[in-house]
Amino acid sequence: MSEPIYLPLARSAMDRDYISRKLSDLYGKLDADSNTRVLPIYDGKVLLVGSPNATKPELRLFEADQIPTDTYVAYLGKALAGFELAEGSAIILAIIDDELAAALEPNPDNWHVLRRTGAGLSDLGVGLYSQALALANWHENHQHCPKCGAATEITNAGWVRRCPVDEMELYPRTDPAIIVSVIDHQDRILLGSQGIWEDNRWSILAGFVEPGESLEAAVVREMFEESGLSVVNPIYLGSQAWPFPYSLMVGFTAKLAPQASGELIPDGEEIEKLRWFSREDIAREASSLLLPSRATISRAIIEHWYGGEIISASEL
Ligand SMILES: [Zn+2]
Repeated sequence: MSEPIYLPLARSAMDRDYISRKLSDLYGKLDADSNTRVLPIYDGKVLLVGSPNATKPELRLFEADQIPTDTYVAYLGKALAGFELAEGSAIILAIIDDELAAALEPNPDNWHVLRRTGAGLSDLGVGLYSQALALANWHENHQHCPKCGAATEITNAGWVRRCPVDEMELYPRTDPAIIVSVIDHQDRILLGSQGIWEDNRWSILAGFVEPGESLEAAVVREMFEESGLSVVNPIYLGSQAWPFPYSLMVGFTAKLAPQASGELIPDGEEIEKLRWFSREDIAREASSLLLPSRATISRAIIEHWYGGEIISASEL
């Protein structure tokens, strides 16, 4: 057995408190509690206390009377620990417009997307960020009923959208994607590079699960599509949310099939280059390789195979 994999965005310190979602006048009750805090999201971005590259950046939360109630989109739950909040402090997600964003923080550079730097947040911050951004993205993309086109309304404290015409209920969606370290007969790892990436940027391969497909079948299909390789024995490593816009990345490792030669055939659409890396290759070339950010499951899986931290060109 190998060590459990450390996944930075899988951390959380929230009680989602789903029971309270059905309370009548929930927001009235929460607003009356001085411990309640609001997380504003503007155009998929958040404010931080400290810079995103600081050792300990944190999400910037506001008191309930600082944010108008009509911007509330969802009740996220209760904080278990962190941010110097009282334990059990309720946190509300607000989606705000240009005007309010400018009033809260006029410098647009201080609104952040944390694709690269989210790993630096605390357990509370990172869990809250993943939950809030995925939910905010879902609300933004599901304003209309897929059946009749009528405008949908928010119910259940932001955890359901309902069509007032045909009463269809829409639930927040999560799109599963598999991401895989393929290992060859010499214990090398397969990394690929997309045509649109900078030169020498590499990652393990990934793809969305299709309807009616198991995770394991998606691993075998995607690896063949993107690399021409037959892989066997997919083993689950762990998962973490990736809220861009609302994916769940499910990590696997799989072996090159025993009879396979390991000849690499990039699909030429998404993947332009493929290469087997030994641990020695990584150690020797790390300072020139661009690897996925420390917030990603890809990086975590590569380092899990490598057996320790890699300082790549992305960190220099
Ligand atoms: Zn409808």
